[in-house]
Amino acid sequence: MTHACRLVRSGERRRFRIGWVEVGASPVIIAGPCSVEDRDMIRRVADYLAREVVDGLGFKRLVLRGGCWKPRTSPYSFQGHGWRAVEWLREAGERAGLPVATEVMDPRHVARLAGMVDAAWVGARNMQNTPLLLELASSFPKPVLVKRHFGARIEEWLCAAEYLLSRGKEDVALVERGTRGINEYARFTLDATVVPIVKQEARLPVIVDVSHPAGRRSLVPPLARAMLAAGADGLMVEVHPEPSRALSDKDQQLRPEEFRRLVEELMEMKLL
Ligand code: PEP
Ligand code: MN
Repeated sequence: MTHACRLVRSGERRRFRIGWVEVGASPVIIAGPCSVEDRDMIRRVADYLAREVVDGLGFKRLVLRGGCWKPRTSPYSFQGHGWRAVEWLREAGERAGLPVATEVMDPRHVARLAGMVDAAWVGARNMQNTPLLLELASSFPKPVLVKRHFGARIEEWLCAAEYLLSRGKEDVALVERGTRGINEYARFTLDATVVPIVKQEARLPVIVDVSHPAGRRSLVPPLARAMLAAGADGLMVEVHPEPSRALSDKDQQLRPEEFRRLVEELMEMKLL
C-alpha cells in the first residue's frame, strides 16, 4: 500500500494535555451533550460529571464536550447557538473544574475560539476542509482532534492530520466515529480493526466516538467496552440531562446516571 503521508508515522508516540487531562497515556473520556442548548443544561451536565464521576468514582480524565455550531443534514434543523453556546460551555467547565472541547467548523472562528476552549475537534463533515485545517495549524495553539469523515479511507483521514503536523502542529489526535456501511441496525458502521490499525500506522492518540455510530443508547456501552478493549486512547460519549427533549441526537445520548454507570463498569473491568 502506498502511504500518502509520513509525519503521522515517524517519530515518538504523541502525548499532550487537554487542560490538565493527559491524552495518549491512560484512556480519557470526552463527554457531554451533542449540542449546548442553553446555559442551564450544560451546567447541569458539567456539575453532575464533576460531582458523580470525577469526585464520586474518582475518574479524573474527563473533558466536557458540547457542540456550539451544529453541522446538521437539514438546513431547517437546529444549527447551534454559536458564540453564546461557547460562553456557556466555558462557564460550565470553569464552575465544575472540567476542561472543555467543542467542534470548530469555520476558519473565521479559529483564533477567537482558541481563547475560550481547551481543545477543538474538526467534525466528520469537515475532515478535508483544508482552509480550516491550515487555520487551526497557524492560529489555534491548543490540541485539535480530527474526526474521520464517514466516507473517508484510513489514509485520507491520516492525511487530514498530516496537514496539521506538516505545519508544525503536534498536539493532534484522531477520532474514529464510524463510516457508512450496510448495517442498517446501527447509524454508522464501527470497524473494530481501525483502532489497532491506526495505532500501528500512526503515532497519534486514537479516540473513538461511540455515540454517533451507535445511534441509540443501548449500543453505546458494548461499543465503549469493545473500543477500549481494542486499545483506544479514549472515548467520546454524548450525555444529555433529558435526552428525550434534546434538540439533536436524542436517541443516542446517555442520561447522566447511565453514563456514570458505564464509567463505573469500565473501571470495574479495568478498561479505564
Ligand atoms: C459531534 O460530535 O457532535 C458530531 C456532529 O459528530 P460527527 O462530526 O462525527 O458527525
Ligand atoms: Mn451528536
